[in-house]
Amino acid sequence: MTAPMGSVARRLLNRVLVRGEVIEVEEVAPRMRRIRIGGEALAGLAWTPGQHVRVFIGGEGLLGGVLRTYSLWSYDPAWEALDLVGLDHGGDAPGAAWVRGAAPGQEVAFTRPEGGFVLRDGARYHLFAGEETAAVAFGAMLRALPPEAPAYGVVEAEGPGDHLVLPRELTQVCRDGAPAAGSRVLVEAVRKLDLPGGPGVAYLAGEARTIQAVRAHLVKERGWNRRDVVTKPFWTPGRRGLD
Ligand SMILES: Cc1cc2nc3c(=O)[nH]c(=O)nc-3n(C[C@H](O)[C@H](O)[C@H](O)COP(=O)(O)OP(=O)(O)OC[C@H]3O[C@@H](n4cnc5c(N)ncnc54)[C@H](O)[C@@H]3O)c2cc1C
Repeated sequence: MTAPMGSVARRLLNRVLVRGEVIEVEEVAPRMRRIRIGGEALAGLAWTPGQHVRVFIGGEGLLGGVLRTYSLWSYDPAWEALDLVGLDHGGDAPGAAWVRGAAPGQEVAFTRPEGGFVLRDGARYHLFAGEETAAVAFGAMLRALPPEAPAYGVVEAEGPGDHLVLPRELTQVCRDGAPAAGSRVLVEAVRKLDLPGGPGVAYLAGEARTIQAVRAHLVKERGWNRRDVVTKPFWTPGRRGLD
């Protein structure tokens, strides 16, 4: 008799994927849910704040499912649990639907934390800019900064109630119905920031075109070197599961 998935394939899969269970869900903003995932397999996960996991959504075994990317908001080795914060951007897209429907008891498989969107050592100061989804990675990165490290930045969200509470005070701006893609609101707010003379290190995440506009501002108008601007496009209209 042939099992749905061979034992070799299953062993391989178990090395790549971490398996846990949703143990708590909290609405942290009207469209954002903090999803806590726990389980023995989460003990001793290697993690650097700013990194992400890819959650395996839908399907049977590895058939028919898709991977969607979420930053770690936090990870607690003592509790063998991590928190993701997902934005429900509406519609039937698998990631948005998973965030909307997450409930305690559901099984979750995901890849180990990875990615280069992490704090750089030796920065004179740190500058963060992005929208709701970027704020999740920023929260983890800001928490990891030593208290004396200067941090500036702007977070954009749809309305005043849509902002995540972050560990440092960054400027908050609202789109108020304007599109998040190619957002002028974010770049205008970064332009208005009173930054120390000379570049620091910038971390830009969220919608791809908005990030490009903010980077162009830093490089062309403020004279920053491109290598001092760390970018990570999280999504853009018309593309699915960016990354
Ligand atoms: C490294 C990395 C870290 C990320 N971290 C987070 C995180 O912590 N929290 C989080 O919520 N998201 C995060 N994202 C973004 C998330 O992976 C994408 O939004 C993803 O597209 C969601 O999958 P989906 O199935 O809902 O939509 P998809 O099927 O991938 O996309 C379908 C369409 O939905 C629209 N869309 C997708 N995302 C958004 C959005 N955010 N706002 C408006 N419209 C959108 C686009 O038009 C897209 O073409 C991250 C992405 C990356 C690459």
